Amino acid sequence: MIPQSKGPGAPGSLEERALALLRRFYGYRSFRPGQWGVIEAVASGRDAVVLMPTGGGKSMCYQMPALLAERGCAVVVSPLIALMNDQVEALTANGIPAAAVHSNNSEAYNREVMDGVYAGKIKLLYISPERLMADIDRWSPDMPVSLFAIDEAHCISQWGHDFRPVYTSLSGIKERRPGVPVVALTATADRLTRDDIVAQLRLRNPYCYLGSFDRPNLTLRAFPNPGPAGRLRYIMDMVRKYPHDSGLAYCLSRRSAEAMDEKLRARGIRSCCYHAGLSPAAREAAHKAFLHGTVQVVCATVAFGMGVDKSNIRWVVHNNMPPNIESYYQEIGRAGRDGLPAEATLFYSYGDIITLRQFVEESGRVAVNAEKLRRMDAYAHARVCRRRILLSYFSEEAVRDCGNCDICLNPPARIDGTVLAQKALSGVMRTQGRIGVFTLVDILRGSQRQEIRRDGYDRIKTFGVGADLSREEWLDYVGQMIQLGVFEVAYDRGNVLMVTPLGMRILRGEERLELSEYVAASQAVSAREAARAMTEAHDSEMPVDERFVDYLKQVRMELAREEGRPPFMVFSDASLQDMARRRPRTPAEFLDVFGVGELKARKYGRRFLSAIAEYPGR
Ligand code: ADP
Ligand code: ZN
Repeated sequence: MIPQSKGPGAPGSLEERALALLRRFYGYRSFRPGQWGVIEAVASGRDAVVLMPTGGGKSMCYQMPALLAERGCAVVVSPLIALMNDQVEALTANGIPAAAVHSNNSEAYNREVMDGVYAGKIKLLYISPERLMADIDRWSPDMPVSLFAIDEAHCISQWGHDFRPVYTSLSGIKERRPGVPVVALTATADRLTRDDIVAQLRLRNPYCYLGSFDRPNLTLRAFPNPGPAGRLRYIMDMVRKYPHDSGLAYCLSRRSAEAMDEKLRARGIRSCCYHAGLSPAAREAAHKAFLHGTVQVVCATVAFGMGVDKSNIRWVVHNNMPPNIESYYQEIGRAGRDGLPAEATLFYSYGDIITLRQFVEESGRVAVNAEKLRRMDAYAHARVCRRRILLSYFSEEAVRDCGNCDICLNPPARIDGTVLAQKALSGVMRTQGRIGVFTLVDILRGSQRQEIRRDGYDRIKTFGVGADLSREEWLDYVGQMIQLGVFEVAYDRGNVLMVTPLGMRILRGEERLELSEYVAASQAVSAREAARAMTEAHDSEMPVDERFVDYLKQVRMELAREEGRPPFMVFSDASLQDMARRRPRTPAEFLDVFGVGELKARKYGRRFLSAIAEYPGR
């Protein structure tokens, strides 16, 4: 069905044909790491497993074999209707015949699509797993299928974090169509899940590609939670920094998502909220507004997740800690999918740990989830390169500091924290293991809170000895002390603090304690700005005129409005940047721009070329 390779580089070889198609339909020059290996394997009939981070370019791994196949349609299983529709839209915008069959379409439309498939007019068919398994036996055996692609394949495994029982029925595919290659793709799978995917789909000797999970374009930062006003200020700063782009503000609860949204809108920011409490219609509307750029910020709970396929999200802020590094990595991975610089900021607090700890207790898998939370907490408090921590969490070797996280960019100053620790330790000793972090900080700061007086804590010797530091500073320092093993938290006994043997030695002056100096979120961003300005001045051979890019974004917005499609479906930010660098003057030059395929060149070339010719700043 699929022609065999004639050897690399040879004229008319599989690779050469693939590169020609890549240029013609997508406007790309070369394959990304890993893509060609998978494409070659699948195109020659072999099963494959593809593990690539979000934004790595998984779709190409089945789209290209679908294009290379001389006959037949690739059947792509995807769990979410929104995801299917986005993919179909992006493909058709590039002139590739694709369609989706699912329960949101009318049956008449679905039938029409299937007629198109039978007639050989459709190269890629997106379908829900329910639908595929219901229909596959009714498909005529001579309906040629070039390949099956199982997107979000981790959904098949109970070991994964997003098990969907209906996915298990996909194990029947191989039996139904033994000769057709199956490619399974996912962004999140540990070893166990991976093996489970292979076993359940009954893949035979699959080609495996394990991509690197590194996302070097994401700037990683974590700060002690600056409180509601500080968080709002930070997010407003992000909006100002990226006036033409969008971002995500993750919140722990529906209520806090709504509150944040209201405050942003009160300040004139185009924002909306997204959580599981909204009606499906309201959710769909929010999703669409975000895709189309009519809202700039989504204040979301984790319900806003899979299916956010917008390539130009420039920042993600976590107002609270996620329960584990897997979730965190997936959530920040929604930013910067186009490979351009993007920022991910985490606000952490001891309060979050207490809340998340409760979820852990209720989860039924206490040991595993408590350990996952502990690793998340350690990441938040880390004083070594954050990317190294993330990569090693996913069992990837990381031998060098990344240079693009807050620790690498602004190494935190070290301070002698012995006296601070002694103050905190003495407060805990004098209250005999009855208090948690918040009460301790109140005692140290000499709080006049009623409960402090009621329990007689205002009469102990430690009361008020730390009044020179703010509440945020103390919370951060005590958090560090917990991380460093000065205290232990008795989660099973009202979260009270207990002094460890190390703590005892510090209290007696036998051991010193080094801490990292507290850094407020607001301070850190301006420092970072300076750092960025410096690196940019150094390393870009060809600086991009940002004003010109903004001008091109307006042209893109007009075209998007006219067509009623999201701006990034017209062109990605990366394309506009390349366009700004090259300033094409002729249709041929326009075709050279990154991401400009033949169809888009025909459709949009004139408008962009005349806009470029008219640009006043030339
Ligand atoms: P994933 O499904 O792994 O999250 P996608 O398949 O959505 O990632 O690809 C992410 C982005 O990368 C898309 O905008 C896609 O067009 C782009 N992309 C994929 N392959 C290439 C390539 N070879 N060259 C340039 N861009 C690519
Ligand atoms: Zn780093």
